[in-house]
Amino acid sequence: QDSRKYTGIVEDCCCDYETVDSINGEVLHPLLQELVTTPFFRYFKLARSASFVGATSGSGSEVVHNFFPIVKLWCDCPFWPDDGMCRLRDCSVCECPENEFPEIFKNPLHRGLPSDNLVCQEGKPEATVDRTLDSRAFRGWMEVDNPWTNDDETDNSEMTYVNLQLNPERYTGYVGPSAGRIWEAIYSENCPKYSSGEICQEKKALYKLISGLHSSISIHIAADYLLDESTNLWGKNLELMHDRVLRYPDRVRNLYFTFLFVLRAVTKAADYLEQAEYDTGNLAEDLKAQSLMRQLLYNPKLQAACPLPFDEAKLWQGQSGPELKQQIQKQFKNISALMDCVGCEKCRLWGKLQVLGLGTALKILFSVNGQNQPRQILHLQRNEVIALINLLNRLSESVKLVNDMGPKAENVNGGL
Ligand code: FAD
Repeated sequence: QDSRKYTGIVEDCCCDYETVDSINGEVLHPLLQELVTTPFFRYFKLARSASFVGATSGSGSEVVHNFFPIVKLWCDCPFWPDDGMCRLRDCSVCECPENEFPEIFKNPLHRGLPSDNLVCQEGKPEATVDRTLDSRAFRGWMEVDNPWTNDDETDNSEMTYVNLQLNPERYTGYVGPSAGRIWEAIYSENCPKYSSGEICQEKKALYKLISGLHSSISIHIAADYLLDESTNLWGKNLELMHDRVLRYPDRVRNLYFTFLFVLRAVTKAADYLEQAEYDTGNLAEDLKAQSLMRQLLYNPKLQAACPLPFDEAKLWQGQSGPELKQQIQKQFKNISALMDCVGCEKCRLWGKLQVLGLGTALKILFSVNGQNQPRQILHLQRNEVIALINLLNRLSESVKLVNDMGPKAENVNGGL
């Protein structure tokens, strides 16, 4: 068959494209799709400010009325004043007191909105946010700092939960200078594209991780796109997928690289993740989460086909390893801080989650049991685990979408 467009070993990784596609399609993608629907993995915790803001914006058919107060969910951007550039109402994450959490999860001091605000923004269930504070689900999980990320999730006083299943990453209409300058700041200030002569593996890896994540975000935008605003028709925009990702071989390669990097982090933390508590009070669902985790972590097919998706031991070996690590850690922290500047709530939600997921992968691979901290053992926050697994799922979806494009995709080996 000559329909296969990606061949050879994924650059700087240990498995080839064909193996990645088959193991992802057969094993990883189905497992992850189920895992992220379990209660433990579908609620992501975010800090929010206490201020409630009412707003009407846009003009003509684009008018967005927020019929009841919206909550400014996240911390302020440290770099530019917020200039949200969303065109569509689907951009916002609606905060409703409606909740699917079992009764036992509700904090007795639940700060719900008054009951007359029970209808979500224009009654759109897909925009629902669960803002029930959950103390029980955090039991058994440590609050430990992540040296790679900017977020301080230790303050529990003003937190909210977003149901990820109801707020999918997709096209939101967030375009223009606001979105562009975030990517620009990420690439130009924090992970410049390396030249062909670059030999520093660590700098290359940081760029490829961000570029791979960017590819994945673009693929999700194109895969779930508003094709016709007048009829509210959503579907795949293959032209956009091609224009933004598939016609650039390096962007496709970087996606596979990021997928294998995160997969390696998950499998490296297998013993920790296997023993972790996935207790949400729903016994059947929690057992299901545990069982799916085990199938993912100790999968015989994965172990046989791709036992070491990425070899982290090759990095930070040079004399300047420790300083380099500090420098790259600082750059990644900046990228993490930039996520607070994303002027579209849904994009910010997924941006923050996925950067936290990458930060968690970096922490697992490079900040535990490293040469400099031989006795340090792994501790993850619940939110880090949720971010890590949801990120892996998003990357797995993107890899599958690219592979499903088959002959329509550009030949990534066709040269850069
Ligand atoms: P952009 O995607 O903005 O890219 C900017 C420039 O970066 C390109 O011109 C190119 O030079 C370079 N570039 C593009 N892709 C890659 C790559 N893979 N590797 C290396 N360089 C690359 N919009 C939504 O509709 N839904 C979302 O959920 C969403 N989430 C976002 C999350 C974040 C963190 C950010 C910063 C933006 C998000 N956006 C989202 C906006 C979206 O990513 C684009 O910025 C927007 O659609 C405009 O796209 P563009 O064609 O101008 O190129």
